[in-house]
Amino acid sequence: MAQIRVQHLHKAFAAFTAVQDSTFTVRDGEFFCLLGPSGCGKTTTLRMIAGLELPTSGQVFLGDEDVSFKRASARDIAFCFQMFALYPHMNVRQNIAFPLVSQGLPKAEINRRVNEAATTLRITGLLGSSVSGLSSGDRQRVALGRAIVRQPMAFLMDEPLGALDAEFREVMCNELRALHDRLQATTVVVTHDQTEAMSMADTIAIMNRGVIEQLGAPMEVYERPASVFVADFIGSPAMNFLPFEAALSRGCETVQIGLARVAVPALRQDVPQSALLCGVRPEHVHFADDSALRAEVLGTEYLGTSQIVTVATALGTTLRAKVDADSPVARGDHVGLRFDASAVSLFDHASGRVLQTARDDHPLAAWGRAAFDRRTEAGARHG
Ligand code: ATP
Repeated sequence: MAQIRVQHLHKAFAAFTAVQDSTFTVRDGEFFCLLGPSGCGKTTTLRMIAGLELPTSGQVFLGDEDVSFKRASARDIAFCFQMFALYPHMNVRQNIAFPLVSQGLPKAEINRRVNEAATTLRITGLLGSSVSGLSSGDRQRVALGRAIVRQPMAFLMDEPLGALDAEFREVMCNELRALHDRLQATTVVVTHDQTEAMSMADTIAIMNRGVIEQLGAPMEVYERPASVFVADFIGSPAMNFLPFEAALSRGCETVQIGLARVAVPALRQDVPQSALLCGVRPEHVHFADDSALRAEVLGTEYLGTSQIVTVATALGTTLRAKVDADSPVARGDHVGLRFDASAVSLFDHASGRVLQTARDDHPLAAWGRAAFDRRTEAGARHG
């Protein structure tokens, strides 16, 4: 296995820029997700790593080798376009063996690798079966088998779970991550589904309109979003945003929103009079009778262990609070709102960028960054 290094990668289709100045490293053995909405440039990035698309400028390194202009077949990478693209006239064994037969490997070696892959994927009993009668999950396992027998330096997967229904996607999400942990293979997965990325990845690159807006561990991008776009894209229900205007001085720990003074993490910069956004996740919104930030309850959504309460503030902003299921609130109630100060993010409204605050030192962000290192260290010890 090897690390993948992407440097200042740029792709234009005529006058349209699909990928703009992307720079990131997928570490050896890392599970890396490219996440973003449709059309943001994820697949184009993956195709440039695979060698299926040439960059307009920039470089791709596989290990120490610059492979930017090498053909796909000359790169030691397995690319899974669509997990379900199996050869219908071949059985499971023949499908998995196909890339090795194409390489002309000796029959004994092919059998050894196919049996090993089937054991890893727990489909040994299916090797003699026709692929046409398989369930979608087993078809996906066979497609994965065809990728892993090659023993490539890295795996690239484009929306590997996209064709599955929601319930089964969750199961395969866990399986894909477990498979990765067994193989310790450098893996890049493209997905538009933030839940999928959050549950599988060591590191997520969140793309918007061809640009990577943030790179980080799941916990880091959730706890400390670098932009309004990331804050809104990650998490469900999404982060709440309260607009306000102010000039703020470095070190200040409260902001005035309407009639209320709202506590925030200490600011690390002076901010001239401008339009700003106060961002707070639903689980950090609480009801407090003595708060000057008043709101009316518009509705509640019972979720068993919690409930999502939608409120409209006196300033006309709609917020969602995730509170205990037994919190006694009902439509039409008037409530005061309090936020966990340490969990508030402040953004510049015009640029969408986060303002620098003491949240940068949040221990959870550092924990998230260190999580991959701990996992790989543990993997090395157990391997
Ligand atoms: P999706 O999940 O919808 O595929 P994506 O994030 O993977 O989204 P890309 O497929 O990378 O997005 O496409 C990025 C943009 O580049 C899109 O607007 C797409 O229309 C455009 N694009 C991709 N390939 C080409 C091409 N060969 N010629 C022209 N435009 C292209």
